[in-house]
Parts: sequence; structure tokens; C-alpha cells
Amino acid sequence: MTGSGTVRPFFRPLFAVILIALAGALFFRSLPREAPIERRGFMMGTAVSIRALADEETLEAAFGLLHSLDETLSAHLETSEIGRVNAEAGSPTQLSPQTASLLAEALAWAERTDGAFDPTLRPLTRLWSGDGQNHRPPTEEAVARGLGDIGWKRVRLDGDSLLLETAMGLDLGGIAKGHAADETARLLRERHVASALIDLGGNIVVIGGRPDGGPWRIGIQDPRKSRGECLGVVEVRDLSVVSSGNYERFFEWEGRRYGHIVDPSTGCPADSDLSGVTVLSERSLDGDALATALFVMGREKASALAGELEKEGFAFILAGDDGTLYASPSLEGVFRLESKEYRLEER
Ligand code: ADP
Ligand code: MG
Repeated sequence: MTGSGTVRPFFRPLFAVILIALAGALFFRSLPREAPIERRGFMMGTAVSIRALADEETLEAAFGLLHSLDETLSAHLETSEIGRVNAEAGSPTQLSPQTASLLAEALAWAERTDGAFDPTLRPLTRLWSGDGQNHRPPTEEAVARGLGDIGWKRVRLDGDSLLLETAMGLDLGGIAKGHAADETARLLRERHVASALIDLGGNIVVIGGRPDGGPWRIGIQDPRKSRGECLGVVEVRDLSVVSSGNYERFFEWEGRRYGHIVDPSTGCPADSDLSGVTVLSERSLDGDALATALFVMGREKASALAGELEKEGFAFILAGDDGTLYASPSLEGVFRLESKEYRLEER
């Protein structure tokens, strides 16, 4: 035979087998050892997703937990624990230990943010959300009445015992997703999940890094652009990243946009000079309450509080509606600004 060089015909099949085996080995090495699975749903009024190196049963359990937290904490459901408590306002009532401790955390953030975060806004959020129906602004009289029925300082919480004045009502919507993200992360960690991304409508908690070992890359929504357009990226492991703004949930009436974050001092949707707030923290509960509060506070007050909280390990990205952007010093090497339409500013 010509052209076969020194390889005798007998060895050719053997070479072919070795080559195929080598190629196969290389191919499988390039695949992650385990592939992540992802599950999506709609809960707590928002799109939720979990991506994790886990089995189906674990994700099933995580979604079960989210569902039950939603059914407990929703202010819109009469059958939820919060719904029941609001209906019983005026007489003493008993909270479950978990809800009592979440309310205590919410009240602590109300105090720390000078009332910008307030878990007693149900009389106002009920007006502004129209409970999903007639989406038009309430009358000034209705808002004034609502303002008379709110106030975190009026909540009497003693252990698990709660007393609300008759017309008052709780709305834990500004902290519930963060709490739910923390609880989901806890469940996954207990089941030895080493890599996961939990996203509850912008309340993100990551466990470990990506399945390939690198940090999770999380895009920060550009609040002035349509969904999915990011102003930059953070690279994180084992952290919560919560973003708030008026870009996600709002309704429009006669050419004006009404966001779902209410300013407790006016009773109306917050008219903030911040367009987006991102908080990086250990606990998503804290990030959730803070992102809502800082948005309400506006740039000047938010910057001052951010400065204090940076000493406690929190980090912030504050996007001004004029294109200015503040990022905490600790985010150097973590946050990368990608949009050319923002100017990074010192505080
Ligand atoms: P976002 O989705 O923009 O991060 P959140 O869901 O954290 O906002 O908070 C908004 C929800 O919190 C509202 O739908 C309402 O239930 C409640 N809420 C609105 N304004 C406040 C406020 N000032 N303090 C506490 N909770 C609020
Ligand atoms: Mg919030």
C-alpha cells in the first residue's frame, strides 16, 4: 500500500480508537462537572428564578418555601397572616414567631431610616395600588386620611403580641422579598448547595460562585433604560444584591408615572432624585429595606446614611436621575461601570 508510511494496516483501527477516546476525554473535561438547573415562576408580585447546582427535589422545596412565605406575608391576601392581622387591627393579636421577628427587623429599619422605610403603609399602598384594579391616583382627601393612619412608632409589638390601632395596617412588601431570598438561601445551604443564584424580582442572593468557579456576574439595571439594559456589572460571591427604583413597577395616569414606593412623609409615590439604588449586603432583608428607604430619602440623605452603613459592611450604588453615579469605595474591583451615560462621582 502506498501513502501509509510506517503504520501497518493492522494498527490503523487501534489508532482510530485511541484518537476517539482522547477527543472524548477532552470534550467531557471541558464540561462542568455538574450542570446547574433553573426554575422560574411568578410570586410576590414578581418574576422569580432560581439557578443552582442542585437536584429537582431541592428546587421544588425552595419554591414550596417561597410559596408559603408569599401566602403568609402578602398584604393583598385576606387569608395571609398579614391580611388576618390587618383585619384584626384594633384588638391585640398574636403573630407567628417568624413574622414577629420580621416585623421587629422592619421596625428597626424604620427607626434607622428615620421613617423613610415604614412597614405600616398599608392604608396608603392600598390606595395607590388600587389592589390591581382601577389604576388611577386617589383623591387628596383619601391620601390625607391614609396619612393619618400610618406610623411605625404607633405599632405595639411585644414579643409575638401585636396591637395596631383600628385603621392601621401592615405592608411588609418592602422587606418580604429580601427575607424570602435569605430563607431560600438558607434552605439551599442546608442541603449543601454550593452554587446558586436566587432572583426574586431584583432581590438577588448568590451562594458561592458560578458552577465554573468564577464569581457571579450581576448586571445592574440602568434605571433610565428599558429592562435588561445595564449600567454596569458587579462580580460577587455569597452576597445579596438588591436593586430598587421606579422603573420596575408603576402605573401611568394622564402622562404621569406613579411608582410603587410610597414616601411616608407625603403619602404619595416617592418623587426621588435617585433613579436607582443598589445595596450589597450579607442579608437580603437588610438590602431590601434599605434599597426602598434610600430611594425615598433621595440623594443627599441617602448618601449620608450610606456613609454610616459602609462602616458596617454595606455597599451601595446610587444612580442619580441626572446621570451621576456613586459607588462605595469597597466596590473597587467588584463593580464595573459600563454605560458611558453616567459619571462616577465622589460622595
Ligand atoms: P422594589 O421592587 O422597587 O425593590 P420593594 O418591592 O422592595 O421595591 O418595595 C416596594 C413595596 O414595599 C411596595 O409594593 C409596598 O408594598 C411597600 N412599600 C412602598 N413604600 C414603602 C416604604 N416607604 N417603606 C416600606 N415599604 C414600602
Ligand atoms: Mg425593598
